[in-house]
Amino acid sequence: MKKITSIWIQELTWEEVAEYLKKNDIVIIPTGSTEEHGPAGPLGVDTYAAIALAEDAAKKTGVLVTPPVWFGDSSHHGGFAGTISLRPQTLIAVISDMARSLARAGFKKIIIINGHKAANLPALLTAVKELHEYELPDIFFAVIDPWKIARKISSELKETNEHHSGELEISHVWYKYPHLIKRKKLTKNKINFRKIFGKYSNDDLFGPAEEIIDMPWNSFEQKAFAPSGSFSASVKASPKKGKIYHDYMVNIIVDYIKWLKTYKGVIGRVKKS
Ligand SMILES: [Zn+2]
Repeated sequence: MKKITSIWIQELTWEEVAEYLKKNDIVIIPTGSTEEHGPAGPLGVDTYAAIALAEDAAKKTGVLVTPPVWFGDSSHHGGFAGTISLRPQTLIAVISDMARSLARAGFKKIIIINGHKAANLPALLTAVKELHEYELPDIFFAVIDPWKIARKISSELKETNEHHSGELEISHVWYKYPHLIKRKKLTKNKINFRKIFGKYSNDDLFGPAEEIIDMPWNSFEQKAFAPSGSFSASVKASPKKGKIYHDYMVNIIVDYIKWLKTYKGVIGRVKKS
């Protein structure tokens, strides 16, 4: 097979994609958001995180990546200029139509890399669970998220609690896209969630396991409790931390894709006990 000239589908011809599909069946969909990330981070932080992870993992494994989904479920950031949000049902529809197109072309294993963490996950998981059960049972789906694969390295790296626009996600974008971070706007300020939402709230997405009760807030409440848009201190962010955080996750994704290339499905393969 000829070497593919790019891992990005939008940079290939249809003939190159068809050639890829003769021997490969994996594709990555990077998803993120266009939402405010405080005064120091660009609106694209989450999508840039997904793009960077997808691109570097794909280059190391030779799999293809779709154009990124730049919009996610960001309604709670709607009080800030530039935020562009999809309702959960719209995001479900976008992912579902992308999966239908990819499946029709012959892709069999679809990996979503989500940079928007917890906010996109309900819609993404609903989309792939429904597709896999009711419509595309032969297509394999996986959802990869820093929130789930970077817990260990995050607890070693971060010096402050990590929530929206925090030390780690700012470090990540700083490492890969340094021109996009406003260094003078990094902040020591953080939101005291317990003061607002009580002791079962969570102000550290990568903190130790605790008892948490979900309390979704709306954009009006968010603007009131976090007027700058940032929830967490970002002053300890650095490109060095971003590199360690990024490389750690890329290694996991590469390791996973290597395994996925060998995965032949469950039906008819699992021995009855
Ligand atoms: Zn983010």
